[in-house]
Amino acid sequence: MDRPENVPFLDLRAIHARREARLMEAIRGVVRGGRYVLGPQVEAFEREFAAYCGTRHCIGVANGLDALTLIFEGYREMGQLSPGDEVIVPANTYIASILAVSRAGLTPVLVEPHPASLNLDPEQVSAKITQRTRAILAVHLYGTVTDMTPLRALAKAHGLKVVEDAAQAHGAAWRGTRAGALGDAAGFSFYPSKNLGALGDGGAVTTDDDRLAETIRALRNYGSSAKNENRFKGLNSRLDELQAAVLGVGLEYLEEDNARRRAIARRYLAEIGNPSVTLPAAVADRESAWHLFVLRAPDREALGRHLAGQGIETAVHYPIPPHKQEAYREWNSLSFPLTEAIHREVLSLPMGPHLSDAQVDRVIAAVNGYPSR
Ligand SMILES: *Cc1c(COP(=O)(O)O)cnc(C)c1O
Repeated sequence: MDRPENVPFLDLRAIHARREARLMEAIRGVVRGGRYVLGPQVEAFEREFAAYCGTRHCIGVANGLDALTLIFEGYREMGQLSPGDEVIVPANTYIASILAVSRAGLTPVLVEPHPASLNLDPEQVSAKITQRTRAILAVHLYGTVTDMTPLRALAKAHGLKVVEDAAQAHGAAWRGTRAGALGDAAGFSFYPSKNLGALGDGGAVTTDDDRLAETIRALRNYGSSAKNENRFKGLNSRLDELQAAVLGVGLEYLEEDNARRRAIARRYLAEIGNPSVTLPAAVADRESAWHLFVLRAPDREALGRHLAGQGIETAVHYPIPPHKQEAYREWNSLSFPLTEAIHREVLSLPMGPHLSDAQVDRVIAAVNGYPSR
């Protein structure tokens, strides 16, 4: 047991302990059912998650990176994207968003985010559109969806696809429509720490596009849609039956979990009042899933140490921007001052359904007490 005064950043063991009976029942069902890959559990979860997001299709895949990559590869197989086509991505995203574009043989074009929302800034997007631009990757960072109105207008005017990176935004909504149903296609991750997490890796694509869905269904399974017939040079990226069964249980709790996250975020926003920290923007037309509660502090290391001294665990999402990573050494000399400032200043507070009201009190008091004397 954690000492009662400790506030963990996230506690998956505690979250799963509360639903252990349901999880074990689901797992036992798979063990006894004898089907372990592409069987009834995956079919049921795909149906349920599509209904939850409000899309015609959901295709379960091995992880979030594959979900995003397969969307771009699917469009390539359909002749709607070609090698070297440009995809606009926010420079401050988690690197997986950008890796998906690269892995599909397309060219990521980085843009600075909006300084308040930290999501795509339509003015920056507009300035980077060229003859080769074919798609915009809207990353709903930290669980708050991107403002879709200006992006849709730009996409329409320039004939671009809008792909959502919804890996942090299960259940987030924009004017009543959930993430996953806001663009042409969306990629989700079910990595254990996400709002809807598996007991291992998992991912999914959601879309209303029948042809894209059918193409990705084939691509995830060696490029095959009929036994022993291969239409594409596909890969093996399937959601397995065990994870699908676990995710089916998690989906039953997602709304409740997100409601708890929203209640915690409302308290942080209302009760943290420290001039040396900047709180995240709460956007009226966007119901955030609050995957992370990320504040900014000029000296986040000192704030992190102050909180750690009071038993409060924090995290940094993310310390190094993608264009400064060795993987993208060709971009290392590029300058994105806002993105670089964000990566220097962000600090994520404990967030999740594991937190008690007393723990939330402790976090608020500790942030308000910084700097302490
Ligand atoms: C987690 C995440 C991914 C990648 O998902 P995996 O399942 O870990 O491959 C992609 N984009 C964002 C924004 C993420 O947070």
